[in-house]
Amino acid sequence: MVEIKSDGELDAMREAGRVVARALAAVREAAAVGVRLRELDEAARAVLGEAGATSPFLGYRPPFAPTPFPAVICASVNDAVVHGIPGDHRLADGDLVSIDCGAQVDGWTGDSAISFTVGTARPADTELIEATRRALDAGIAAATVGNRMGDISHAIGTVARAARCGMPAEFGGHGIGRRMHEDPPVPNEGRPGRGLPLRHGLVLAIEPMLMAGGSDAYVTDPDGWTLRTADGSRAAHIEHTVAITEAGPRILTLL
Ligand code: MG
Ligand code: MG
Repeated sequence: MVEIKSDGELDAMREAGRVVARALAAVREAAAVGVRLRELDEAARAVLGEAGATSPFLGYRPPFAPTPFPAVICASVNDAVVHGIPGDHRLADGDLVSIDCGAQVDGWTGDSAISFTVGTARPADTELIEATRRALDAGIAAATVGNRMGDISHAIGTVARAARCGMPAEFGGHGIGRRMHEDPPVPNEGRPGRGLPLRHGLVLAIEPMLMAGGSDAYVTDPDGWTLRTADGSRAAHIEHTVAITEAGPRILTLL
């Protein structure tokens, strides 16, 4: 069931989104060559704790997962696309890092992800991150009253394919509200003019995942969580929680 949020509920979701943005900023600040992924999780936990927020990631166990998720961020490095577990891995020069984080405040959820490099960036990684950013921006620009879901999907997919990137077909964005994953799904590729009409008060997590090798194939780690490109190429993932409003798309997970 697709839930439409009232304007007051959108304001409440903005507070959750602000906490996510602060947590991601703290992670970005802490990330450097030699830092362990676990330390990035601790940086995000501190922000959530100070804000009195809880994590929708911690203990989360979707049907595909063998174990509850053990952290408040996903940390996906280089060929990892999404769902990486932040463990003892130390960041190395030139690593491409994608961090996904959620927060719940007063029963409302925010969900956002950033991609960045540490140390000396490879030009190809910078281009991949920029393409992912453009795909997200295009998806957000299409998130307007009067459009349909397929317009968002088509906008994202067009940018991704123009950049010759692959995308893991089974994964994409989603409705969000009291729970992190609500209806409707937000595919990263689709046909314009098709699908659910976009209404004022619909809130979506829009999240392109681009794989530099161009193939859509991925593999899952033995940990049951981490998704990796099948060809070993690098991946980027950027996400915002966005409300569709009569005044245009309202990004709820900005600082
Ligand atoms: Mg997310
Ligand atoms: Mg999401």
